[in-house]
Amino acid sequence: GEATGPEGTMKETSADDVAVQLVYADKVIFVPGFGLAQAQAQRELADLGDLLKGHGVEVSYAIHPVAGRMPGHMNVLLAEANVPYEELIDLDDINPQFPSANVALVVGANDVTNPAARRPGTPVSGMPILDVDKAQNVVVMKRGRGKGYAGIENELYFEPNTQMLFGDAKAGLQSVIAAVKELIS
Ligand code: NDP
Repeated sequence: GEATGPEGTMKETSADDVAVQLVYADKVIFVPGFGLAQAQAQRELADLGDLLKGHGVEVSYAIHPVAGRMPGHMNVLLAEANVPYEELIDLDDINPQFPSANVALVVGANDVTNPAARRPGTPVSGMPILDVDKAQNVVVMKRGRGKGYAGIENELYFEPNTQMLFGDAKAGLQSVIAAVKELIS
């Protein structure tokens, strides 16, 4: 049960490539975290969700109970951005859905997605996590190699089905939205 470092390679992607993945998906799960709140990008996330839904993609928002820096933080942010309440799905209900999601789009969440939590001996051990790594494809939007609240590397970023889209969440979502509009216009 000793903690080991991540294995594998971190791969970067582009807004254009992410847009293609999203537009051709049947089912997408958004995973918001503290970085979404930092960037104040909740409206952009909701706009992206609306665009995809209008194109026939099933979109839901995975809500971790301690994502962000206050209990209930993500529900409040997304409600402010007029995301319908029924699209906010709590951890126990969303986790079984990740394997059927074509894309999990993680926006500024880190610790709440770290598979290291499933093993003993790490700072996040025992914390319930969102099973993002079980999605068919994972795109992680964050500014760079910054750690989350727990201060540890996230093994998810080194998985073969994960790609990183680096940048501020608001600017990154704006780029993805522009690329999606190009594709579906
Ligand atoms: P984390 O703090 O683990 O990770 C947030 C990530 O967001 C960072 O790794 C950072 O990476 C990225 N980020 C920061 N700013 C931006 C930005 N402007 N644009 C894009 N990305 C950004 O967040 P989680 O929500 O996953 O987890 C919450 C953590 O906080 C948990 O460990 C939880 O236990 C803890 N906590 C929760 C409380 C609660 O009640 N909700 C209270 C206190 C702590 P980068 O720097 O590379 O951009």
